[in-house]
Amino acid sequence: MLIVQKYGGSSVANTNLIYNVAKRIQKSYSQGDKLVVVLSAQGDTTDELKAKAMEITSNPSKRELDMLLSTGEQQSVALMAMALNSLGVPAVSLNAAQFGLYSTSNYGNARIKRIDTERINAELEKNNVVLIAGFQGINRYGDITTLGRGASDTTAVALAAVLHAARCEIYSDVDGIFTADPRAIGTAKKLNFISYDEMLELASLGARVLHNRCVELAKKYSVVLYVKSSLTDDEGTLVGEDSKMEKMLVSGIAIDKDVSRISVVALKDEPGIAFKLFSALAKEKISVDIILQSIGRNNTKDISFTVAKDDLDKALEVLENNRAFLGSDKFIHDNKIAKVSVVGAGMATNPGVASIMFEALYDVGVNIQMISTSEIKISVLIDEKEADLAAKAIHNKFMDNNVNLAV
Ligand code: ASP
Ligand code: MG
Repeated sequence: MLIVQKYGGSSVANTNLIYNVAKRIQKSYSQGDKLVVVLSAQGDTTDELKAKAMEITSNPSKRELDMLLSTGEQQSVALMAMALNSLGVPAVSLNAAQFGLYSTSNYGNARIKRIDTERINAELEKNNVVLIAGFQGINRYGDITTLGRGASDTTAVALAAVLHAARCEIYSDVDGIFTADPRAIGTAKKLNFISYDEMLELASLGARVLHNRCVELAKKYSVVLYVKSSLTDDEGTLVGEDSKMEKMLVSGIAIDKDVSRISVVALKDEPGIAFKLFSALAKEKISVDIILQSIGRNNTKDISFTVAKDDLDKALEVLENNRAFLGSDKFIHDNKIAKVSVVGAGMATNPGVASIMFEALYDVGVNIQMISTSEIKISVLIDEKEADLAAKAIHNKFMDNNVNLAV
């Protein structure tokens, strides 16, 4: 069976940990599996390399920065090959240029375009464990790119897709995907299974166990993911296509603090205003999340919406520049807010979820500023200070009501 494995930076942070992983690889190898193993840079290496660059200049060339950052992963794979060899396991390390992972040209955040499989397959034929430097590609100039922070996950899933691997195992220092952040909510439980769609919602909501693009890619190519700890033999979490049979009503609660709210007060209440407002924002590539419009009164209305914290200043600038169009110059904003969401594939067919969530918020006296819903998610916007309290209350309420949240 061909398996792609990926080990995160914390799993290979030092020599002991490298040997810990090497022994796990040895065990799979001795069971007869063919293994392609993607590694991240050791521990905080990527951050340290970046800091080194900043010591030289605050504005390094993006090409040279990628040249530097990509060395972290190369160190990991070379060291792991040595460790495996010393355990008697044949292994070879490869970087993106050696096997051919072609990406777009934009340094720092390149996208994968194509992967050659010949070299990897040839090494597997020779019974080698193939160690792949994650997070990097080469562009059409033959230069090294990096694929965005945390993108080794995406390297692994892309490889699993093109190599038609049986599955992609993602190892890190967490035990799997939980119903909530276990550091914030002690009663959070590990999930045995979560669907791609639910995972995508949770990944984008700041429950960052997996790189968002890796989940999108896994869904697109039906790559089954298995998220697991590299330090224990405990079962992890499978991420796959939703089974039609028993959808989890609620699988997780996530808190996203990267939100700010803008209210545009007393806009003209006439057709085309929302179009003008949001197309002006879209032109500046500002994504808008929750939108709420008030009922018109005296020929005016209010529109409130949320953007990522980083986009707040730019969004306010866009509004200033479009005052005349909008017929409003009253822009109120708040970035001390948080979005708390309940995610579950089964909630589309069950009307009770929202009321349980709102009751939990009422119980702890948390005021809801905005609400948004989709087929598999309900989000509320609340005061940032109350986010942990609210998430805990909602989580416990669902557990008390026996609404699954992990089996
Ligand atoms: N080493 C890279 C980073 O820290 C890639 C990764 O870990 O996935 O972002
Ligand atoms: Mg990392």
